[in-house]
Amino acid sequence: MRDPTAFLKEEYDALVRDELDWKLRVLQGPSLPWCEVDGREVLMLCSNNYLGLSNHPRLKEAAIEAVRTHGAGSGSVRPIAGTMDLHVELEKRLARFKRADASLVYQTGFAANAGLIPQLAGKGDLIVSDELNHGSIIDGVRLSHADKAVYRHCDAADLEKVLGEAERRSPAPRRILVITDGVFSMDGDIAPLPDIARLAHEHGAMLYVDDAHGEGVLGDGGRGIAEHFGLARNRVHVEMGTFSKAFGVVGGHVSGSQDLVNFAYNRSRTWLLSGSHPPAVAAACIAAVDVLETEPQHVRTLWEHTHYFKRSMQQLGFDTGKSETPIVPIMVGESGKAKKLSQRLFEERVFALPIIFPMVAKDRARIRTIMNAAMSRSDLDFAISAFERAGKELGII
Ligand SMILES: *Cc1c(COP(=O)(O)O)cnc(C)c1O
Repeated sequence: MRDPTAFLKEEYDALVRDELDWKLRVLQGPSLPWCEVDGREVLMLCSNNYLGLSNHPRLKEAAIEAVRTHGAGSGSVRPIAGTMDLHVELEKRLARFKRADASLVYQTGFAANAGLIPQLAGKGDLIVSDELNHGSIIDGVRLSHADKAVYRHCDAADLEKVLGEAERRSPAPRRILVITDGVFSMDGDIAPLPDIARLAHEHGAMLYVDDAHGEGVLGDGGRGIAEHFGLARNRVHVEMGTFSKAFGVVGGHVSGSQDLVNFAYNRSRTWLLSGSHPPAVAAACIAAVDVLETEPQHVRTLWEHTHYFKRSMQQLGFDTGKSETPIVPIMVGESGKAKKLSQRLFEERVFALPIIFPMVAKDRARIRTIMNAAMSRSDLDFAISAFERAGKELGII
């Protein structure tokens, strides 16, 4: 009899052969600008810890204190016995920060998208999605029984065409949900949200923005993409985000009307059927919101670093692609070269991962760098000169 698990090894071996397997690097200590990775002290350029909050003393103290007062775990799912005062406080504090009527916290951003999207649109509805939306959105859309349509990346004219076609369908969709990432994680470009919001409004569609890379980064005090563009609150119906990136902890969230939140927590299966955050997580997230409200310097420094790094790299002759944010891709072209560059950088004590096919098109391989407010100017100079040496060696500049 053939071993029914034989495919596990076969498929894994194929991934290794095609160099598509993940080789995990291990951090031996905290995620700081300088960290120990696989026994080497390196400058971290590929973490989503934009503001350095994962090691902010106020977050760490809040987490420790919550373990003392509330224990290590919550004991249940939120709807049964797992809603603690800390969870409620976090949602209040987040809504205030987002200037929304209400917010709801999920275990992760992935759980928010996978749990809420299929409830917002079902049979007879239509979901219209940017072609480069995040995988968690794609899975959320797959879980829904709605029809799906995709528009070209950040292309409002194409979105208009798709919405026009939807209107002429017979029967017309019962509801239309337009979904986009706020900031796209591979290129660091920003969705043209004012145009998207106008089109959604004209076609009577709901608008859902996944601002995982925008919150803590864009807009007044890091309030996100809607604030960045000065959009009226009722134009973006669902603002989704994560505590795992700029907020430095873990957890997903959605903000919007009280009606949205009431609906979302009663219907999202990921929220209803999965344990709630440990007290330390909720407390650290509250502290993160607190830090964003009271220490505006982190967001400011993040942008100063971004401008300085991008300008310096461009002056050296590097192509930073379409980046408009602290996500700065260094375009290389061919996958092999991007891998070599990443390897050379690691030898130079700079940790930045290659992004290659199938994550991006075959000829669009790159090294993706992400800025961190906790770095210093001399850290940036260290990275820039490492890129210069390795880039010249490999004939990239
Ligand atoms: C990271 C990310 C998520 C998932 O967030 P988690 O809280 O880490 O699960 C969702 N959407 C986008 C666009 C992301 O970049």
